[in-house]
Amino acid sequence: MNTDRLWERALRLFPGGVNSPVRAYRAVGGDPPVIVSGRGAHVWDADGRRYLDLIGAFGPLVLGHAAPAVVAALAAALERGGPFGATTEAEITLAESITGRMPVVERLRFVNSGTEAAMSALRLARAATGRDLVLKFEGGYHGHSDSMLVRAGSGLATFGTPDSAGVPDAVARLTLVAKYNDLQGAEDLLAAHPGAVAAVIVEPVAANVGVVPPAPGFLSGLRELTRREGALLVFDEVITGFRVSPGGATELYGVQPDLVVLGKIIGGGLPVGAFGGRADLMDLVAPQGPVYQAGTLSGHPLVMAAGQATLAQLDVSAYARLESLGTRLEAVLRAAGVPRVSRVGSLLTPFVRSTEEFALIHRRLRDAGVLAPPSQYEAWFISTAHEPADLDMVGAALA
Ligand SMILES: *Cc1c(COP(=O)(O)O)cnc(C)c1O
Repeated sequence: MNTDRLWERALRLFPGGVNSPVRAYRAVGGDPPVIVSGRGAHVWDADGRRYLDLIGAFGPLVLGHAAPAVVAALAAALERGGPFGATTEAEITLAESITGRMPVVERLRFVNSGTEAAMSALRLARAATGRDLVLKFEGGYHGHSDSMLVRAGSGLATFGTPDSAGVPDAVARLTLVAKYNDLQGAEDLLAAHPGAVAAVIVEPVAANVGVVPPAPGFLSGLRELTRREGALLVFDEVITGFRVSPGGATELYGVQPDLVVLGKIIGGGLPVGAFGGRADLMDLVAPQGPVYQAGTLSGHPLVMAAGQATLAQLDVSAYARLESLGTRLEAVLRAAGVPRVSRVGSLLTPFVRSTEEFALIHRRLRDAGVLAPPSQYEAWFISTAHEPADLDMVGAALA
């Protein structure tokens, strides 16, 4: 069945035709593709058209589509059955891979999405501190739980206002919002609410407003500030976790948060999340402690197998390859006249002059067989399956 017919059916079935808003391509226009399959750096749509993929499922597919190691691990895991509603070796193996790479994660819990992981980490932070407020940064995305769907109002020292209908003001008011990379702003907000802020949650590399690396001293400043004020520091590494370095942003920037939120890559393309950190904090989680949290499908053997197979491929040479591919795509985009390219490893954003210009570029790339993320504010994701020649093709399409 061709793309047009499938998209018509999708429009009848799902709000906006999709199961996650950005997939509707509203920011760039045109009907979105309906994808049938993917292999390596490419995907195929329902009309048999092949695209070079720079979306990478919005983060998880660091090895590209249908990576042989992941497919093999999944096939073997399928044969073993499950889930079992019981602890499995696969959970232990993946958890040890994570704690080995990220020592600040002494203990963790697997959940089913980044949303759930961030929500649970904040519940834990509130329980651990006995405080109700949380501080996030403008443009920081931490999933779609009520308290995280909040951005700044006008001015810095304001309480949050909801970004979504359906979020009660009473909930939004518990979220303070500072500007990313503005340490003084965060400090002022904490000072205005002494002894009331449970946690500061931050994407160590902001990657949901286009890629914005942390300013020098920002993350270490947050570390000092939270320690001084008795608040917990939570790194949302759902995107950066095991993409920007073997130990994530925590390793790359050398700052130790109290809690870490993970997702995306650690599930190898299957639904996953995890939160973890200091053992004394994690021991507040049920059944060890009073913070309730549970999940029928948490630690699912298929997810664990895909995540472990993915992490096992991410050795030093894989990160060197991702860095060199990132450097190349950045150079290609600059040579094509993009005014500013912001990049951390294989994570990058070409910032153009307007969202209209971005839409134009997006369409031109699509016509040339390149699928870029359908918004100026979504990061572009390179995988180890990309070849330098693939990235040169992006330049040729833009020229
Ligand atoms: C994607 C993302 C999330 C949410 O993860 P889901 O699995 O989509 O719920 C949270 N935080 C960050 C930084 C993300 O990029």
